[in-house]
Amino acid sequence: MEITIERLAKRYGDRPALDPISARIGQGEFVAVVGPSGCGKSTLLMLLAGLLPAGEGRVLLDEVPVDGPPAGVSVVFQDYARSLFPWLTVRRNLALAAVAERPARAELEHRIDRALRSVGLPDTAARFPWQLSGGQQQRVAIARALVAEPRVLLMDEPFAAVDAQTRADLQDLVLRLREEYGVTIVLVTHDVDESVYLADRVLVLSPAPGRVLRDLVVDLPAPRGQLVTKALPRFAELRAEVFRLVMRPVDGAAP
Ligand code: ADP
Repeated sequence: MEITIERLAKRYGDRPALDPISARIGQGEFVAVVGPSGCGKSTLLMLLAGLLPAGEGRVLLDEVPVDGPPAGVSVVFQDYARSLFPWLTVRRNLALAAVAERPARAELEHRIDRALRSVGLPDTAARFPWQLSGGQQQRVAIARALVAEPRVLLMDEPFAAVDAQTRADLQDLVLRLREEYGVTIVLVTHDVDESVYLADRVLVLSPAPGRVLRDLVVDLPAPRGQLVTKALPRFAELRAEVFRLVMRPVDGAAP
């Protein structure tokens, strides 16, 4: 799905959270949104997901305006512990993703098994979330997003609550899923390295209220790999560029 963002803005009360933003995200593209804390990244994602009404402007998915949670869009949040129901098995947690659509039972089972295989957890369907590690729970949350067969995947700091090794594994998992499902991805992160490593483009937002400071094309070769990609001189250049835009200078700190 193509996402068109037209002069989209949002205020909370009389405080502006997002200044007008315009951007176009192509079918199958992977765009990361970075910016300082409080600049409106999560607000932007909630607007894209139709979970918040826009103040001004609009979002279109394949040219259809968003005016509520649209079919074909899944969201993965940071806090997997709160997004999975602890009293339901993994299978039943995943089945919830298709409640609105009500696929036939065999179709639902097929989608659940495929999603669990895709995230590397084929044998966990009968277990409860609390029997899994944090990284595994976030994989289940991602699998649940896949069960709805999304054409757009919106992710809000999805790797922020796990350790560094798990984070790298989950990043590579998302790159694989993008290939496997051909889905358009928008990822909100405050991690500059992560944005450059994963995305085709990085939208850098200004301090609050956010506006687009830079729409940077990440011209790094595919397939990406943690060691190979991050060792490229171009990776270092791009991350330095994003850092420069995101960071405010601190007195006495080296540039
Ligand atoms: P980010 O994700 O970049 O950290 P947010 O989108 O969460 O930024 O928040 C942007 C600004 O809007 C912040 O100042 C935040 O405090 C404020 N804000 C976020 N959600 C609400 C809300 N529901 N009500 C009032 N203010 C909010």
